[in-house]
Amino acid sequence: MTLSLSDKCNFSCSYCPQRKGKNSLRFEDIRGFLDFLRPRLAEEVWLGFYGGEPLLEWPLIEETVAHLQKRSRTGIHFTLTTNGSLLKGEHIQFFKENRFELVFSYDGLAQESRDPLSVPAVEAALKNLRKLYPEGYVVNSVFTPETVPLLAASLEELLHQGHPRLQYALDMSVPWEKPDRIVLERQLRRLAATCAHHRRKTGEMPLENFREIGKKGIFACFAGRDRLALLPDRTVWGCEMFHTLLGHDPQRPDYAKYCFGRLSDFTSMPAKESAAIAASYGELRQDYFFSADKVLCGLCPDLERCAVCPAAAALATGTLALIPSWTCRVKKITRAALDRLGGTAARCRSRRSPRPAKDS
Ligand code: SF4
Ligand code: SF4
Repeated sequence: MTLSLSDKCNFSCSYCPQRKGKNSLRFEDIRGFLDFLRPRLAEEVWLGFYGGEPLLEWPLIEETVAHLQKRSRTGIHFTLTTNGSLLKGEHIQFFKENRFELVFSYDGLAQESRDPLSVPAVEAALKNLRKLYPEGYVVNSVFTPETVPLLAASLEELLHQGHPRLQYALDMSVPWEKPDRIVLERQLRRLAATCAHHRRKTGEMPLENFREIGKKGIFACFAGRDRLALLPDRTVWGCEMFHTLLGHDPQRPDYAKYCFGRLSDFTSMPAKESAAIAASYGELRQDYFFSADKVLCGLCPDLERCAVCPAAAALATGTLALIPSWTCRVKKITRAALDRLGGTAARCRSRRSPRPAKDS
């Protein structure tokens, strides 16, 4: 479950697809959503705090955790995605006590171009996190065609600073032209060599993208079936990425197909109606997708090693299930990097984290 606490953010990252606004959830919305879902939950669930920047709504985080603990549910795990600029020691202490899994968004050497004024505060917070809660976070670094020449050096520097878990993501909403892909290939080759060396030395693979999963299979988006999100405008979606894609245009036919309505509609919706919306999400499987080169993914030899977030792809193509041609080419490069390490393809990163997949 994702609680998108607010659409406010103190950053304006060029690659962020979210629209900023002035909406925030109220605690009574969160309580209504969670209490309604409680009897229907699996034994183990992940609850992700997301934004905007969720630390702008700190009291909501404290209240929500306290509310869930009062009900003494043991199988609930918390995650939170933050740009780190507001992260203080007392927050880290709270996260540690409640065993949060944090996704710290920091772009390494490309952070300067993202939000230059925040760099000292973000780097100080990252240092503090490494000292106080080293087991509780992953650093997520996003690269675009402009910043990809900094990819390997950025992750090597983070590794050198001693951050135990890293991951990179690529902004796939913009075209990756041939020269950009050549740079990406070189950067990943260098990174794979660095990670292989680190693994030989320590026995650990620091880059989540390069971790072995060991299984092949056909990817299916789990929005709407295994996953639900409450958004700051009090609407409910299968995943926050669908709100980013469709949430600002209720006239689009896909809006009614994928939106569970406002919170009050959702909690009173007949089962048949919510099952029909969940079924629409159920069609979002990799083998049903098409590449813009008119290849049906179901016929692609790489099908079982490919996972593309349909909502992120549709942000680029305008059509759900249509994958931009550069995505296929970039996927090929990332698979080759993994093969160099003897691993298997990474799946949707959102399995444990509510962070939207920008396509690893
Ligand atoms: S590489 Fe392209 S065509 Fe092949 S499965 Fe992936 S998205 Fe589909
Ligand atoms: S991030 Fe994308 S692939 Fe993952 S659940 Fe959300 S919409 Fe589906």
